[in-house]
Amino acid sequence: MNKANKHTLVRKRILDWYKENKRDYPWRKSRSHYQILVTEILLQKTIALNVKNIYNDFFTKYIDFSTISNADITELQSDIKGLGLSNKRAKILKDLSQMIIIEYDGNIPQEPEILKKINGIADYVSNAYACFGLNNRTFFFDVNIKRFIQRVFRPQDVKVKNDIIYTELDKLLPKMDFKDMYWAILDFGYKICSKNKPKCELCPISDRCSYFLKSF
Ligand code: SF4
Repeated sequence: MNKANKHTLVRKRILDWYKENKRDYPWRKSRSHYQILVTEILLQKTIALNVKNIYNDFFTKYIDFSTISNADITELQSDIKGLGLSNKRAKILKDLSQMIIIEYDGNIPQEPEILKKINGIADYVSNAYACFGLNNRTFFFDVNIKRFIQRVFRPQDVKVKNDIIYTELDKLLPKMDFKDMYWAILDFGYKICSKNKPKCELCPISDRCSYFLKSF
């Protein structure tokens, strides 16, 4: 099997696995650009379940960027304390909201790169927003996506470079269902290809995984 076929087969099997095993998170159904962007900030450096636990209360109280911009910072910190890093996270949310209100008339800038002007927002958030909010086929990764890509495709690389991850993602992501593929990899990394003790015996792609086959 050549490289292209391996990516195609891994994509199909992971998407098939996802149909039966997906985690149900409210932000995956949201159509609100505001909620999608803010959720990506809430999801940074915490587990998704923590965000799920505050999601409804948070967006009932903070209905738009103006609400966050006008909020008392101490109260905002308290409302997100279950996520950890609440001081830093609250400052990012305040700075972002104020920039959007003052400089962009309350609208998220068309170019997601501009979001990186806010200290604490980097490639992951801007590219994840472009993907999940704007439906652009962008490339981004966290430790879970990186671990999956490295195990399946690049276990020979001790320190895999960002460009290599992006190249592998480009080969792996479908042209249309790229959002599902990102969610599938995240859920697969949580349930099967976990950091410690991956469940290779349950894995639908073990016969194609370079880490499992030690084919490197
Ligand atoms: Fe992860 Fe193991 Fe599956 Fe490879 S075989 S993708 S290491 S769970």
